[in-house]
Amino acid sequence: MNPSLSALNRLDIISKLRNDFFDLVIIGGGITGAGIALDAASRGMKVALIDQNDFASGTSSRSTKLVHGGLRYLKQFEIALVREVGRERAIVHHLAPHLVTSEKMLLPITKDGTFGKLSTSIGLLVYDVLAGVEKVDQRRMLSREETLDIEPLLDHESIEGSGLYAEYRTDDARLTIEIIKTAAGFGATALNYILADEFLYDENKQVSGIRCMDRFTNLQFQLRAKTVVNASGPWVDQLRALNRSLDKKRLFLSKGVHIVIDHKRFPLKHSVYFDVQDGRMIFAIPRGKVTYIGTTDTPFKGAIDHVLTNQEDVDYLIAATNKAFPSLHLENQDVISSWAGLRPLIFEEGKSASDISRKDEIFESPNGLLSIAGGKLTGYRKMAEKIVNLVAKKIKHQYQLDFADCSTDKVPICGGPFQNAQEVKDYRLKIEEKIEHAGLEKYYASYLVANYGKQTDLILEQFHTFDEKDPEIALGLAELWFGVHHELVFNAKDFFTRRTGRLYFDIKSIDKLFAPALNALKEYFNLSDEELKRQENELKQAIREASVFEYSKDPENE
Ligand code: FAD
Repeated sequence: MNPSLSALNRLDIISKLRNDFFDLVIIGGGITGAGIALDAASRGMKVALIDQNDFASGTSSRSTKLVHGGLRYLKQFEIALVREVGRERAIVHHLAPHLVTSEKMLLPITKDGTFGKLSTSIGLLVYDVLAGVEKVDQRRMLSREETLDIEPLLDHESIEGSGLYAEYRTDDARLTIEIIKTAAGFGATALNYILADEFLYDENKQVSGIRCMDRFTNLQFQLRAKTVVNASGPWVDQLRALNRSLDKKRLFLSKGVHIVIDHKRFPLKHSVYFDVQDGRMIFAIPRGKVTYIGTTDTPFKGAIDHVLTNQEDVDYLIAATNKAFPSLHLENQDVISSWAGLRPLIFEEGKSASDISRKDEIFESPNGLLSIAGGKLTGYRKMAEKIVNLVAKKIKHQYQLDFADCSTDKVPICGGPFQNAQEVKDYRLKIEEKIEHAGLEKYYASYLVANYGKQTDLILEQFHTFDEKDPEIALGLAELWFGVHHELVFNAKDFFTRRTGRLYFDIKSIDKLFAPALNALKEYFNLSDEELKRQENELKQAIREASVFEYSKDPENE
């Protein structure tokens, strides 16, 4: 139990932010900021992490949710990047085997596809070697018959075979929040709904902190620190502009959309990485009750705060899927949910959205602000190590203080520790037994263990305290109790979108939880009727935006 992550202690957390003098303040609670907070706090730094909205509400809840080596980077000959992220996948899996799970990926070989048999075989082998994949998990080449046997929905006309290779899958938002919780375990102070709206400067005109605004009360306060890191993803340039340090090197924002189909409608057995006619490749990934498909990759110039899936995105993904899986005949009404996000890429002259490198980069402004952008979910630990090394150097230079080296490759992520995937499986079987007695279907055991790991025990303890006839409602309320007390959940939207992933992976389950969850939030926070109505509308809007689509009115802006 960490009181610093209870939403009910918000005022105490703000008072800590106002009164402490931090070694490092991080702006942005996506995966990048979360990773930096953990790296720095575990080295002994006094760390503050803030986000203007909910944690992971930017790009870090809108990715393909793969912790992967990036096969497409091999196509672009980014060998070092493939090697680094390839090896990182194994480390992150080891640190949280319940949340980062092994996922076999099928790469179909078709008559007119990107890869032929020989190039697929060699490419996947190189990928395995670069990423240091263990022998048992190394790629297997399958014949046409074997391919159609394991994935009968693929196009029988054009399939010539396939490669089966190893990747990992996660929930990006859960990974982010668990890393923040792990950082809090090392003493980091983290709070959502705190906007950084100005930089503070010392007498030498060097950045010495930030001015913040509590988004719930509009009250401003100062946060003082030896160093400040801007890890605000797509907003990085906005903060660089505020810091008057935006130069020629800028972000290029590329929009990526995923659509969600009921698994019964698209009963895919394996994740598949397949060709689109325009030369790109996209994923179809089965996950519990759904299969999701993505992503698009289009330049974005609209409002960063409100990125939506539009009908053009849906049309593109449906057409590509129907081409690769011709018996499906997916239609618009089959799309039950979706998400849209922005890749904060570093602009490269003359390159298209798909061709720009996903490498990360650190910018240091003349007045001492460190900004980090680009990169991948998968590489968050290495990105954090690089920038915290710089932070440590700066503090040593200015204050003659030393900190330990990076050790996050040995710090289990909150929710464990589990030694390996087998231990996770054994734990899940125990949970299955427990919940079946309580009248919940088996699905919830996988759901709970993947989302919360061993914290499932705490949730199930609470589950028994709710006097509800319907066990699914009792479970939802127990999760909400957990979110409010342990994960800084302040409203229904954050709970259903990012703490539980229900908006994306089980949208129907929200129906019956909607009213009980709002009532519970009313009790926890003593909400006024007006605030309750606002939260209700906000949640309804989130559901509508995920599942109802329009053609973009201004094609220039999308
Ligand atoms: P964000 O998650 O956007 O976090 C930045 C945070 O800063 C936001 O929460 C925002 O609210 C906050 N912020 C901004 N301004 C302020 C301010 N003034 N004050 C306070 N807070 C502020 N990577 C992979 O490894 N695997 C994948 O499968 C994968 N798929 C992807 C698919 C798509 C469609 C996209 C778009 C990206 C994908 N990526 C993937 C890349 C990965 O998701 C991103 O690199 C990563 O999530 C970026 O995280 P971030 O923390 O830098 O940014």
